[in-house]
Amino acid sequence: MYIPYGKQSISEEDIQAVVDVLHSDYLTTGPKIEEFEKEVAKYVGAKYAVAISNGTVALHAACFASGITKGDEVITTPITFAASANCALYCGAKPVFADIDPNTYNISPEEIEKNITSKTKAVIPVHYSGQPCDMDEIINIAEKNNLIVIQDAAHALGADYKGMKIGSFGDMTIFSFHPVKHITTGEGGMIVTNNEEFYKRLKLFRSHGITRDKDMLEKDEGAWYYEQLVLGYNYRITDIQCALGISQLKRLDKFISKRRFLTERYNNAFKNTDSIKIPYIKEECNSSHHLYVIQVKNRKEIFDKLREAGIGVNVHYIPVYKHPYYQRNGYENVCCINAEKLYKHIISLPLYYDLTEEQQDYVIEKVIEYVKNIVQYSI
Ligand SMILES: *Cc1c(COP(=O)(O)O)cnc(C)c1O
Repeated sequence: MYIPYGKQSISEEDIQAVVDVLHSDYLTTGPKIEEFEKEVAKYVGAKYAVAISNGTVALHAACFASGITKGDEVITTPITFAASANCALYCGAKPVFADIDPNTYNISPEEIEKNITSKTKAVIPVHYSGQPCDMDEIINIAEKNNLIVIQDAAHALGADYKGMKIGSFGDMTIFSFHPVKHITTGEGGMIVTNNEEFYKRLKLFRSHGITRDKDMLEKDEGAWYYEQLVLGYNYRITDIQCALGISQLKRLDKFISKRRFLTERYNNAFKNTDSIKIPYIKEECNSSHHLYVIQVKNRKEIFDKLREAGIGVNVHYIPVYKHPYYQRNGYENVCCINAEKLYKHIISLPLYYDLTEEQQDYVIEKVIEYVKNIVQYSI
């Protein structure tokens, strides 16, 4: 038996949706892309959406649309996947890491403020594990300092902040549809925004910087005519993927409820065990429960035992600046104390829609057994 930490849930209806596209005229640049964009925009309450090949390039596109360029600085959290910082590097800008709040593990607004310089252009808060960041404070700081806010909501599709869905407010918000995320398209991503200028730049960037839109052309030489206006890429997503996404989106609320149910089961099982720290829950938000992260002493020993028992635990995340690439490129003296402390103790336990209560009970039993044995031995 092997229980992974995260996994997609594919229904017969999902499969049929993909097969239908294969029988249709368009495999890419067809009608499913716009349909998927409209459905996600409607779900999160945003005006515009741009579907794109994956979450990482969604971040790249959002940085491009923000006008981030050489010499700029972009503030993000160290407790995230490398892509949240790499997107600044793709634009020639410098990622700057602001430490986390030790309760929520999200970027701390005070730490953002401390790291602002005359070069700072944008902030990329990451809604870690699906729990929204302190967005009122962050948007306030951004407005005062003329910064663009790009929310990395790869964990937070369906989450809400003070009654507002993540994606419905702020400059730009990105989602990922990698198989471990809430809904999947295999690979895939989306940027949502309420700003038409950003929307236009995102669409250009996704497809080589090329447009056929008569309002944007500098001249018009005929019906065949198009222009490349900026340097873009081929970051398109296919109709095959978007058909899967449209079908998956119909079950998103079910996916989230199950994740919430499993999270509460974990919390109840662990809350009375000394030396397991369960996740902190912010009252005014609804998490989308992407990850279930506990803190333990002796993380390495407990992690190894759980893996041996067939449980696909993981660690989210190694502080980004600790990676050799960053260490070799000017980050060797960076230290975010709370992030480094957190990194020493965290384990992500399995959490996904198809995880059964029996499987979860097995995970719970093993975690409690190992925590008790190993922590006692070490004292
Ligand atoms: C998954 C993820 C990404 C990248 O998404 P991909 O679709 O895998 O490229 C970016 N940021 C965070 C926080 C993620 O979890």
